[in-house]
Amino acid sequence: MIPGGEPVRIAGAGPSGALLAILLQRRGLPVELYDARPDPRGGSAESGRSINLALADRGIHALRAAGVFARVAPSLVPMRGRMIHALDGTTVFQPYGRRAAEVIYSISRHALSQSLLAAAAGAPGIALKFRHSLEHADLGRRTPAFGAHAGDRVVEVPMRPLIGCDGAGSLLRRRMSDDGLIEAREVPLDHGYKELTIPPDATGAGRLEREALHVWPRGEFMLIALPNGDGSFTATLFLPVRGPVSFDALRDGDRIERFLRTHFADVVDSMPDRGTELRDHPLGALGTVYCSGWHAGAAAALVGDAAHAIVPFHGQGMNCCLEDCLEFDALLTRHSSWETLFAQFFAVRKPHTDAIATMALENYLEMRARVADPGFRLQQALALELERRHPRRFVPRYSMVMFHHEIGYRTALERGLVQSRLLSAATRGAVTLEQVDFERVERAILRELPPLAWNEAATQ
Ligand SMILES: Cc1cc2nc3c(=O)[nH]c(=O)nc-3n(C[C@H](O)[C@H](O)[C@H](O)COP(=O)(O)OP(=O)(O)OC[C@H]3O[C@@H](n4cnc5c(N)ncnc54)[C@H](O)[C@@H]3O)c2cc1C
Repeated sequence: MIPGGEPVRIAGAGPSGALLAILLQRRGLPVELYDARPDPRGGSAESGRSINLALADRGIHALRAAGVFARVAPSLVPMRGRMIHALDGTTVFQPYGRRAAEVIYSISRHALSQSLLAAAAGAPGIALKFRHSLEHADLGRRTPAFGAHAGDRVVEVPMRPLIGCDGAGSLLRRRMSDDGLIEAREVPLDHGYKELTIPPDATGAGRLEREALHVWPRGEFMLIALPNGDGSFTATLFLPVRGPVSFDALRDGDRIERFLRTHFADVVDSMPDRGTELRDHPLGALGTVYCSGWHAGAAAALVGDAAHAIVPFHGQGMNCCLEDCLEFDALLTRHSSWETLFAQFFAVRKPHTDAIATMALENYLEMRARVADPGFRLQQALALELERRHPRRFVPRYSMVMFHHEIGYRTALERGLVQSRLLSAATRGAVTLEQVDFERVERAILRELPPLAWNEAATQ
């Protein structure tokens, strides 16, 4: 077990930093948690960040293990499947899973943050330091230290160690990379996002089916909407940044209105502030971060988005970060030095974070285009039927990722490739499930997909 003593310093009190602080404290390690923002428990939600997030089994499992799920649960809105909105306004509901429990949940980023920070504030041994912005990290010194801006002064603090949970744009990662300690690659996506509000109607009721994640797939781009607890929905438009159909091209009110009416006619009038929101909201950047390592000796390490930010199309970024924290916690009991723990954390976790990065990129195509395709829908229906017949061998990839924390991302990716091949072969030339040669595809399942062990640790 890592010995206690000097506090562990964490930069960034987002989902990763807050949960990690709670888990470290439960192991008897004192923690100082720094964040550049003011304390979110005092104020209203930050604007410009994604307002709500999809929480799934991996995140829930980690929150439960840390003893904080009960605080978060009242803020959850279940989403039982995708509601696909076609161009002509017709809708089709695609359930996420076969079982009633296979749902994901919408949660406001602000509510999650408040719950986690309230739990951290109530825990002895965690000191919260808001308005402390990490501004340098000197890893080359004999006693590595970092500086954090606190108002008009900079406080210098030794790293014993410093854990960077400072998000996708991590300053600590950039320092580690600039100092040649790791190689960090930030791969931007040429699509960005902006958020739009769908308020409740005059009676306070939601304007869309509440327990669904709504998708308007339009080939090269898409709009999605997640429900909020107050009956409103937060819509997110994902669009190329430049080009003929792009944020760049939506320069004035007329073009914005024409674009929305052409592509999203069934919802446009439910977004009364669409013009100003699309013009004034900051354009969110998207991308993937790949690192050759996540630590600098025993002095510093990266956890969460700082180590491996991904694009948001699988709704797994935060879930993956919470799972990181749980894995880190498990390693605490098996290591007596930070350096070996950090090295092992990278070795165990990296194959999984690379796998979810790949699946998240693939899922953009699925959400913006494939969900509208009848061939894809047939494959989805077949996948659910094959899962019913072979629940231990054939679990749809989406379900492995979203509903099975026992199955590592890497396994989901690998088995998903085999399953995708079997589904394509089985549905070739078929229009309905009755036309599928079940005997043949089931023989292939028995041959190619060994049974899954439910109790396997997620990272094995
Ligand atoms: C549009 C969009 C939609 C998303 N949807 C989902 C979803 O549905 N489901 C899901 O699981 N994930 C989703 N994600 C991903 C999710 O938001 C991230 O994976 C998650 O927030 C990462 O948590 P984190 O704590 O590692 O980093 P962050 O949430 O980015 O937190 C970093 C913290 O560090 C602080 N900080 C930054 N710099 C400094 C500094 N220099 N000094 C001190 N503090 C600093 C920040 O103030 C912040 O509090 C989405 C992301 C986007 C962009």
